[in-house]
Amino acid sequence: MYSDGRRCELPGTDVDHVIPHSLGGSDDLSNLALTCTYHHRVKSSSEGGTAAALTRKSVHRKPPTHPALDD
Ligand SMILES: [Zn+2]
Repeated sequence: MYSDGRRCELPGTDVDHVIPHSLGGSDDLSNLALTCTYHHRVKSSSEGGTAAALTRKSVHRKPPTHPALDD
């Protein structure tokens, strides 16, 4: 489904996890949906970013000091 409400008209060739494994989704039929390869990739890549963001630790580094200003 596009954001404007239209449905994708490409044939469903991939099985997509509605709630991805990385977020606790199961392999139950209720969590699976047919999608075209293109939309599966788009969804999966956005979820990969989400999953990575959930596990990524926030790292705060001191800003580097300019070598000429070191003392
Ligand atoms: Zn599609």
